[in-house]
Amino acid sequence: RNSGRLGGLNPENGSANDSKNLRVKLVLLGDSGVGKSCIVLRFVRGQFDPTSKVTIGASFLSQTIALQDSTTVKFEIWDTAGQERYAALAPLYYRGAAVAVVVYDITSPESFAKAQYWVKELQKHGSPGMIMALVGNKADLQEKREVSAQDGMEYAEKNGMFFIETSAKTADNINQLFEEIAKRLPRPPAS
Ligand code: GDP
Repeated sequence: RNSGRLGGLNPENGSANDSKNLRVKLVLLGDSGVGKSCIVLRFVRGQFDPTSKVTIGASFLSQTIALQDSTTVKFEIWDTAGQERYAALAPLYYRGAAVAVVVYDITSPESFAKAQYWVKELQKHGSPGMIMALVGNKADLQEKREVSAQDGMEYAEKNGMFFIETSAKTADNINQLFEEIAKRLPRPPAS
């Protein structure tokens, strides 16, 4: 079942959140190489192109999705652009973010350990009430898997996070990741 529709709905959709149109800042965190940029590219452009490494830098990419209740959610997606190497800068980057997506690579236990480090950082320094998702990416590489889905799920559950395994390469669960986040956003009261 494919609930949400993707599309460039109202790309510049006013400034304020109202009950039908939400706008949220989303940050991606995780080890370099786990596929953060590829996840964003897959979601925003519907492409997987490992050769075009986008460096988003100081800016962000945005994408709007429509939910079945006709709410639209505009994600302003901030990639770390390498800032994961400078832990001291991280709070500047995730400050004000309503959503944090922590990514690891299912073939890399080191990246799973790093994801847990980021979760602890966010628990200490993130916005209160931040929605956090744990993403095991590269799920297409089953034969090289070294982190079980069970381990990811249990860790996420213990930390009040939403968990999903994705593949930016095959597009598996990429839209679902953002749809599930959208469903969990607090709705402002209808006016
Ligand atoms: P980032 O440093 O976290 O932004 O990682 P990138 O998005 O640059 O991806 C790092 C490498 O992983 C690239 O060579 C991608 O082609 C590869 N990659 C990303 N996502 C996937 C995936 O879902 N499956 C596979 N097999 N490779 C992926």
